[in-house]
Amino acid sequence: MHQLFATRASRMKASEIRELLKLLDQPGIISFAGGIPDPTLFPADSFAQAFQQALGPQLQAQALQYSVSEGYMPLRQWIAEHMCQIGVECRADDVLITSGSQQALDYLGKLFLSPGDTALVGWPTYLGALAAFNAYEPRFDRLRTNGNAGAAEYGTEAGEGAIKFAYLSPDFANPTGETVDLRGREALLDLAQDLGCAIIEDGAYQALRYDGDAIPPVLALELARKGDLQACRTIYCGSFSKTLSPGLRVGWVVAAKPIISQLVLMKQAADLHSATINQMAVHQVAQACFDTHIPKVRDTYRARRDAMLAALDQHMPDGVSWTRPEGGMFIWLTLPPGSDGAQLLACALDTVKVAFVPGQAFHPDGSGTNTIRLSFSNSDEATIAEGIRRLGQILGT
Ligand code: PMP
Repeated sequence: MHQLFATRASRMKASEIRELLKLLDQPGIISFAGGIPDPTLFPADSFAQAFQQALGPQLQAQALQYSVSEGYMPLRQWIAEHMCQIGVECRADDVLITSGSQQALDYLGKLFLSPGDTALVGWPTYLGALAAFNAYEPRFDRLRTNGNAGAAEYGTEAGEGAIKFAYLSPDFANPTGETVDLRGREALLDLAQDLGCAIIEDGAYQALRYDGDAIPPVLALELARKGDLQACRTIYCGSFSKTLSPGLRVGWVVAAKPIISQLVLMKQAADLHSATINQMAVHQVAQACFDTHIPKVRDTYRARRDAMLAALDQHMPDGVSWTRPEGGMFIWLTLPPGSDGAQLLACALDTVKVAFVPGQAFHPDGSGTNTIRLSFSNSDEATIAEGIRRLGQILGT
């Protein structure tokens, strides 16, 4: 059967890490592996009310019927206002609803990448973006942003392919937790201008800032330069997954009209539209409680981040370093040269029952063996302290 598959299928591989992570179901494991929200933070009562209303006499016909590919208009309007608040002046027409931002990444890969084209990505970068783009058979080349130096550069690992876009998550990236500062964002815009390529700005964690001042999205900075969204080359992908609920699969794209129109055609071909009832519920809940709910989410995760940083300070041996994120869900550890994150995971599961994700999978070239990703979003402070103490034990021996 395999010989019947398209060439792209051979690039889609299950990772060995998944096999190890299956062990997470064992009792007593402390897991810093999955980058998932704490389910106790879902505004479940508000969603229950919203679904009841969507299924009530006024809305049920619309909620259960086919709908337009662009998305539920009141939600697009809410998102346009939200984007204005974070510095991106746009209108509902500039917004496309997607089934999570993951779908946007897939469509953007489909829209931009022919086999052999180049995508610039961080080394490391979000694994799901690599998986989405990989299906379109690109080469990956390394994007470096360095705000302190006001620089953005790319490597030459990929060779000759036409550079189509630079992908990054500028706020509290998955997996490093790092943020690209203002100068780094400006430098990235200069680089994209020089290369004539697009920028895919992944704002999945944008709302989860725990301290420091917000930095305008790359798209906001480009808008300030050009004065017109239609002249911008940055494509902003947003999501309700980290703030309200990932299970409802509601995300969005804001970009210039020619890009939105192409993505609408793709959505028509792929799934017609995202579930209307989910969009209605997200709209209702966002309107009723986004501004009051998000501070609660931030307070919870801030305390967990602080607990993890304090425990790392206390228990990590010399030679281990880590990031100090201002938001998001992740801390990235660099172990001494020669260490192997995958071996460490096998050992940690076996001996101290702690799980995390080895960093290699986030590197398109398979480097980063001596790195690991820890997520602090889904464990309470005491569990975090205990898990890091145990990790320190095996790293110190
Ligand atoms: N981008 C980043 C950086 C992520 O970490 C994730 C989820 N882990 C996504 C996009 C996809 O999220 P969703 O499809 O749920 O919006």
